[in-house]
Amino acid sequence: MENPEYIMFFDNHTSKFCSDVGHDLDADQFAATIKDIGADLIGFHAKCNQGFCYYDTKIGHRHPSLRPGHDYFGEVVEACRKQGIKVTAYFNCGLSNEDGVVHPEWCQIKKDGTIFHPEILGTMVTPYARVMCINSPYRDHLISMIREVKEKYPVSGFLLDSFNGFPCYCRHCIEGMRAMGLDPEKEEDAIMFAKISSRRLAQDISDAVEPRKNGYLMFCLGLSARDNLKYGSYLECECLPTVPCWGYDFLPMKARYLRTLPQNGEPVLNMTGRFYNWGDFGSLRTDAAIEYDMFFGLANGMRPNIGDHIHPSGIYYPGIAKGVKRIYSKLKQYDPWYRNATNPVDMAVLFPGMATSNTSKAVIRMLSELNMQFDCIDEISDWDKYRLIVLPDYIVLTEELQAKMDAFLKSGGKVLATGESGLDPEKTAFCFEKEWGVRFEAGRTFDPPYFTMVDEYSGLIPELPLSVYDDCMKVEALAGTKVAGKIVAPYFDKDWDGVYAKFYTPPRDLTDLPFVTMTEQVAYCSGKLFAGYYKAASVELRHVFKAMLEHLLSAPLLKVSADLPSFARSFVSEQPGRRMVHLLNYMPELRGEMLIVEESLAAYNIEVKLRLDGRKAAKVILAPTGEELPFVQDGDYAVFTFPKFCGYGLAAVEFAE
Ligand SMILES: [Zn+2]
Repeated sequence: MENPEYIMFFDNHTSKFCSDVGHDLDADQFAATIKDIGADLIGFHAKCNQGFCYYDTKIGHRHPSLRPGHDYFGEVVEACRKQGIKVTAYFNCGLSNEDGVVHPEWCQIKKDGTIFHPEILGTMVTPYARVMCINSPYRDHLISMIREVKEKYPVSGFLLDSFNGFPCYCRHCIEGMRAMGLDPEKEEDAIMFAKISSRRLAQDISDAVEPRKNGYLMFCLGLSARDNLKYGSYLECECLPTVPCWGYDFLPMKARYLRTLPQNGEPVLNMTGRFYNWGDFGSLRTDAAIEYDMFFGLANGMRPNIGDHIHPSGIYYPGIAKGVKRIYSKLKQYDPWYRNATNPVDMAVLFPGMATSNTSKAVIRMLSELNMQFDCIDEISDWDKYRLIVLPDYIVLTEELQAKMDAFLKSGGKVLATGESGLDPEKTAFCFEKEWGVRFEAGRTFDPPYFTMVDEYSGLIPELPLSVYDDCMKVEALAGTKVAGKIVAPYFDKDWDGVYAKFYTPPRDLTDLPFVTMTEQVAYCSGKLFAGYYKAASVELRHVFKAMLEHLLSAPLLKVSADLPSFARSFVSEQPGRRMVHLLNYMPELRGEMLIVEESLAAYNIEVKLRLDGRKAAKVILAPTGEELPFVQDGDYAVFTFPKFCGYGLAAVEFAE
């Protein structure tokens, strides 16, 4: 299996009205440029979403402006091979406009009988491009093209795009649904059938390509990571953080999830873009912006992949090449500290189905701001390796989760739960009432609820009732449960009685309703802490969360002095013989309509304490220079100070023999 280290992906979807495709291509010069940049693998378009092929095909539609006989893709593959650069073939499987023009009967059909156009996450992807039904004869046509490229070119694999799983109501799909006993009238059945169809196509392509047997890289964009491990051979996170549907909250979740999945050393790639969005030919993000994405991935075991476009004519602009080379040269200095590194953690956050939401964004931000080391896990993950699991706001316990939770609690595992988390799926009672230490009474208290902390926790927040910014569950503390915070009721709930508005709703009475409770195994907050933090970024809510974490986790893996700004990010990784701390000091800023990172920021004298789990530090060095840093061993912690660093700092504690 290929194990690429520095990757570039050329995402080219070229209209038939571009009249000179490949006319200025000098494949040898292009490959020499890629070599000079320092990439060892490129993804290159064999077939684009416009439905055109760039290789010498007997099956698909050649791009009409390719010169007669010009094998654009083949020339690039051969020139790269001579330079020792691998190429994976890109196929858009879902979108293929030219195929839809020639064969309208292969197009996906909406329920109203018209041709379907895609809309993903509220953003039109390639407006007007026709989406092909993968249950129509297009399926064999596509697989034949993939087979054609496999047989004709020495490629290293396949990047297969647009496994979107949109429901289709063409006759093939309706007949298919009925044959499986599904009801095309029911939307959930149509969605389920679309997902089954996507997986079936992946299986058929996998059978044609045999990625693991042949050592090919194969990944299907749009399928889950777990499906990709089954049908493909590596993992990839596509994330342009400047595009709102991804933003700067997507990679932090996926990085901490994907790194938990490989069982056989499958590579995990981290794809960003040199531009703000796909199709944005005229932009080059700052070095700081791109290196932030890439360092973030590298600290989590992901290899860098920079998304790019080559000009349709085949010219590759020197401005892009110089920028990517500058960034890759910087990253490469740190490679010895990345290879085969793993990430030790204190805890995991559970996201069934790995669905992203405002709550997932908030909990990951809060843990990151507190420098906690955690994985993101789904319902299938192995919980045994964790001592603490966080259940944010909405995690009701299905039968399957109840069984896992039962085993986890019996093994002494600890749980931090908020809001509805821990309730049964019908939301009538906590599944582990004794361990949770609270009895459920109702799904909400007041509108709006306020809170205050009590007893030894009262100093955590200023002396005033504070807003939760979301619902609080009405619960009763069981005997023996420590109540650390209580709910404060407003004068009245928000309302309008037809004459008078109850809009200003000040806090009034301290109630006995618990806001935060603690037992030996479980810290519970009755408020939807993370939904609240997403709305108002209330630092006091994070103070509450921190106190709950401290109750369950007395000695975290990493402690960082308050001199590091809250927007900075920290990671711990390890290799045999050493444990490392990565600090990233960059700040994405919403500037007008665009989220940008303009510069890497300096940080000075950041003291860190790194838990060594019984090992002794022999020395602490700063990467990549190897400069030794003074340190002390304080119990189980190595304590040292990062001198000034700009953007990214990496220090390694070398263990004594
Ligand atoms: Zn269909």
